[in-house]
Amino acid sequence: MPSLSERLAAALEVPGEHVIDPWSAPLAYLTQAIALGARFVRGAELLKGTFDGAWRLDTTAGEIVADTVINTAGLYGDLVDDRLGLGAGFRIKPRKGQFVVLDKAACRHVPRIILPVPTEITKGIVVCPTAFGNVLVGPTAEEQEDRVRATVETETLETLVRRAAEIVPALAGIPVTAVYAGLRPASEEKGYRVFVRPERRAITLGGIRSTGLSSALGLAQHALKLHAGFAGGYRPPENIPAIATPNLAECRERDWQRPDHGEIVCHCELVTRREIEATFESAVPPGDFGGLRRRTRAGMGRCQGFYCNARLAEMTKGKLATPLAVEKEGKQ
Ligand SMILES: Cc1cc2nc3c(=O)[nH]c(=O)nc-3n(C[C@H](O)[C@H](O)[C@H](O)COP(=O)(O)OP(=O)(O)OC[C@H]3O[C@@H](n4cnc5c(N)ncnc54)[C@H](O)[C@@H]3O)c2cc1C
Repeated sequence: MPSLSERLAAALEVPGEHVIDPWSAPLAYLTQAIALGARFVRGAELLKGTFDGAWRLDTTAGEIVADTVINTAGLYGDLVDDRLGLGAGFRIKPRKGQFVVLDKAACRHVPRIILPVPTEITKGIVVCPTAFGNVLVGPTAEEQEDRVRATVETETLETLVRRAAEIVPALAGIPVTAVYAGLRPASEEKGYRVFVRPERRAITLGGIRSTGLSSALGLAQHALKLHAGFAGGYRPPENIPAIATPNLAECRERDWQRPDHGEIVCHCELVTRREIEATFESAVPPGDFGGLRRRTRAGMGRCQGFYCNARLAEMTKGKLATPLAVEKEGKQ
């Protein structure tokens, strides 16, 4: 890669490593589950669960009766096991990761994922292209107690930007489009925390510290195998429908490139009216603006919604559980 710094001594190739759109994969899994008869319930916090041959789950959306429980509650995995009376065999220790998203001008300098040599704690600061045509720098690995708030700190972000330019000098001076932080559900141990309790018909897939996206299908298959050991088992359906989610990635044709898309609503990310409207007609409509952003890329570009928020508020009026702030405040 000609853009790499001449100061770098060697590189490690990771065969099969790919950049993917991280939002459409979980959407496809859920859409497929719904096509197979699953019901998904939003805003249903599990408060307590009791088992008497079947599970009775008290949730903030009412009682749910279930044959089997699979706990995949991420940052709350240990607390959910406690609420189910399973006695959590692990404790979540949130690990924050801060990221910088560089402007699309950076992309031509970073055609591939650049990974430093990993350590015991972290795989290190990655510089990589995104499926959406930006460059991502991060994440950090910072232990914290708080499971809710993931703050970004200017000093750390500046270090990330400097680090990116050390690896790829042409990135120096390229503007930052966005910054964000997320919390990984790490635990006291490095590996995933998988617990199976056939007598209670419960499986816990906990402490998925990182690689949750890469491992999701493998973990699901593993859970299925574990469940096969439960009395009565579970027979997966024979005909599994193929699901195609709308394309958000730059490597394939986008909706704005096709005729009759209505209008381009977000000019930074080239998101069309037809794409936005289609999300509300899909099996999993977005519940809030964050969901709409992840479903379409609207508001995620260079202006971060400065130009399209008013139009988006108008288009989504009455459709989002949490309306856009611009609409609430009556701003244009
Ligand atoms: C900094 C960072 C770096 C990452 N790097 C990678 C990477 O390199 N590769 C990769 O594949 N992935 C990566 N990931 C993704 C990461 O692995 C996943 O975010 C992580 O595994 C969390 O996914 P999850 O499904 O376990 O939890 P979540 O996505 O948090 O899902 C848990 C769900 O449980 C629900 N829940 C919690 N408590 C309750 C309750 N009481 N009742 C009902 N519902 C409840 C929550 O609302 C949520 O919907 C990274 C993430 C971060 C933050």
